[in-house]
Amino acid sequence: MPVYSLASLTWTAVRGLPATRTVAVLPAGAIEAHGPHLPLATDVIIAEAMARAGADRLAARGLHVLLLPALTIAPAPFAAEFAGTLDVPPEATTMIVGAVLHNLAAHGFRAAAIANAHHDPAHVAALRRAVGELNAHGPAKAGHNGEPGGMVAVFPDLTRRRWAERLTAEFRSGACHAGRYETSIVLAERPDLVRTDVMSTLAPNPRSLVDAIRAGRTTFTAAGGSDAYFGSPAEATAEEGRAIVETLGAILAEAIVEAIEPTGVAS
Ligand SMILES: [Zn+2]
Repeated sequence: MPVYSLASLTWTAVRGLPATRTVAVLPAGAIEAHGPHLPLATDVIIAEAMARAGADRLAARGLHVLLLPALTIAPAPFAAEFAGTLDVPPEATTMIVGAVLHNLAAHGFRAAAIANAHHDPAHVAALRRAVGELNAHGPAKAGHNGEPGGMVAVFPDLTRRRWAERLTAEFRSGACHAGRYETSIVLAERPDLVRTDVMSTLAPNPRSLVDAIRAGRTTFTAAGGSDAYFGSPAEATAEEGRAIVETLGAILAEAIVEAIEPTGVAS
């Protein structure tokens, strides 16, 4: 089945979709400092890649997939001290995502999933709240297509062990901001936006953001990342980035399939 960009469709085309076999995917990123070598939109690029890779897998299973425009403005308090970062209150994200989920439920879609690549704890918590509120109301009512069933909201949180263990060693170490993991994905997706001359000169910064957060640090500088990167960007390769995107797509597709076919076997 096809993958559609919601923003490119007409409303009549959306009305014509088989809502109960249609899932929507919302990529979620940020405009946030990512070292001296990656663009501020790094998490948006990663989230969109995850969404597309997941959508391809779902389409191959016979589902229709609607890709929503990415959420690009997010709480980003850890990076707020760096030039260019946009940091908004987490309540704003919860309200927008919650409203979007309710819109999608009213249209009668089977599922809506968030493909999130921005792991600032404030953002992850804001997304969790929006998804939790939607699902707490039980299966949302069928919408204008008048078909039965309700919409489930799905958020595979990559910071949870179940999903994190599928990702790279650097990601699991917590030194996972603008390092080898994220740089590899941007090299695969948007090599034109990577300053490879700078990237190759960056010394490894193996400090764990997860440990820093546990210790009460609230900014990248306080966590030991005065250049807004953690991990080993100089080791990044496009090949690794392509492999990570495939894994991210598999995680997204599995989470959705589990939610809509609880007795099925995810592939
Ligand atoms: Zn990032």
